[in-house]
Amino acid sequence: MNFDLTEEQRMWKKAIHDFVSRDVKPSAQMVDEEGQFNWQATHKMGPIGLLGLNVPEKYGGAGVDAVSAAIAMEELGWGCGSTALSISAHNGLGCAPLSLFGGSELKKRFLPPVATGEGKLAALALTEPGAGSDLKGGVRTRAELGGGEWVINGTKMWITNAGIADFIVTLVRTDPNGGSRSLSLILVPTDTPGMHIGPPEKKMGLKGCPTHPVTYEDVRVPENFLLGEVGQGLHQTFTVLDWGRVSIAALSVGLAQAAFEEAVRYANERHTFGVPLSHHQAIQWMLADAATQIQTARLMVYFAAWLKDLGRPFIMEASMAKLNATEMAEQVCRDAIQILGGYGYSREYPVERIYRDARLMTIGEGTSEVQRMVIARKVIQTD
Ligand SMILES: Cc1cc2nc3c(=O)[nH]c(=O)nc-3n(C[C@H](O)[C@H](O)[C@H](O)COP(=O)(O)OP(=O)(O)OC[C@H]3O[C@@H](n4cnc5c(N)ncnc54)[C@H](O)[C@@H]3O)c2cc1C
Repeated sequence: MNFDLTEEQRMWKKAIHDFVSRDVKPSAQMVDEEGQFNWQATHKMGPIGLLGLNVPEKYGGAGVDAVSAAIAMEELGWGCGSTALSISAHNGLGCAPLSLFGGSELKKRFLPPVATGEGKLAALALTEPGAGSDLKGGVRTRAELGGGEWVINGTKMWITNAGIADFIVTLVRTDPNGGSRSLSLILVPTDTPGMHIGPPEKKMGLKGCPTHPVTYEDVRVPENFLLGEVGQGLHQTFTVLDWGRVSIAALSVGLAQAAFEEAVRYANERHTFGVPLSHHQAIQWMLADAATQIQTARLMVYFAAWLKDLGRPFIMEASMAKLNATEMAEQVCRDAIQILGGYGYSREYPVERIYRDARLMTIGEGTSEVQRMVIARKVIQTD
C-alpha cells in the first residue's frame, strides 16, 4: 500500500496551491460581498488545465487523473467556495457528460473553447421545480424529435453557471410513458432562441457562484446534439454524478482546511485568562477533532479517486466520501466559528463565509439522504 502522491501529482498540487494562493484566495471575500463570479481568476485557469480537468488533450483539456482532479478541487475549495463550485460544476457536470457520451463532431465543436478558457463555462441542468432527488419520476422538461431537430420545452432551476455558460447539458424526457429509459441528455447552446436564463437565485452563501432558473420555450437543436443514445439520460446522469460527488467531497475538504487554518491561527493569537486560546484543553480538543476529521475525509476522497483511476467500481466510495466530507466540513466550520467567538460571527473574518458556503455541500449533487440511500443499497445488496 502506498499513500504517497506521485512526483507529478505533488508538483501539480504545488502549482495549483500557488495559483490559488495568488489568484483566488485573496479575492474570495470580495467575490462573496459583491456576488460576482471571479472571471479574472477563471481566465487564467485555462492554460493551467483547471477548465478541462477531465477533457482529453485532443479537445483542449488537461485530461488529468482522478486523484489530480480531486487535488485541484480541494485547493480551489481552500481558496474560495464560490469559485470552486463553479469550476467543479463546469468540469464535473458540464464538460464530463459531453466528454463521456458526446459524438466526436459535438466534442470538437463545444469542448475546446470551454476547456481552454477561450469561451465561457459549461453547465448541467437536471433539477426542476418538481424534481430534485427524484429525477426519474419528477422531470417534466420534454424533448420531441421533428424534422431532424429536438424541440425542448420546460423549466429547470438551481442551475450552477447557467448565466456564464456556453452550453447547458439538459436532462429531458424523451418518452412520455415514463420509466428509467424515458430520459435523455441533450446539449443546448445558451444562445439558442427560446432559452431564457432567469435572474440569479438569492442564496445563503456561494454568492459568487451564479445559480439560475432556465426556461426552454420551443428551443430547437439539431438531432445530433443528443448525447449518446435516446433513453440513456438517467444512467448517464448517475455516471456523471458519481464523479461529481468526489469533486464536491474534495471541495469540502478544502473548505474545512481553510476554516481550520483560520481557527488555529486565531487560537494561537488570542489570549484569554492570561494564555493563548490554544492552551485551553477545550479548544485543543476541537482542533484535534477537526484535524482528524479533515484527514479522514481527505483519505476517503483520494481512495474514491484512486479506485476511479484504476477503473474499479467506486459508486459507494464516492457517496461515502461525499457524505463524510460535506458533513465534516459543516462541523469543522461550525467549530471554527466557535473558536473565534464573536469574531467568528463577523463578516470581517472568513469563517462565517466558509460556513455559509459549506452548508450547500450536503445538498447539491445528491443530498446526504440520497448518499445514504446509495450506500445502503450497496451494503444490503439490492443494487
Ligand atoms: C447552490 C445550488 C446549486 C445547484 N446546482 C445545480 C446544478 O448545477 N444542476 C442541477 O441540476 N441542480 C443543481 N442544484 C439542485 C440540487 O441538486 C438539488 O437541490 C438537490 O438535488 C436536492 O433536490 P431538491 O432541492 O429538489 O430537494 P428534494 O428532492 O425535494 O428533497 C428535499 C429533502 O428531502 C430529502 N428526501 C427526498 N427524498 C427522500 C427520501 N426518499 N428519503 C429520505 N429523504 C428524502 C432530501 O434529502 C432533502 O433533504 C443546485 C442546488 C443549489 C442549492
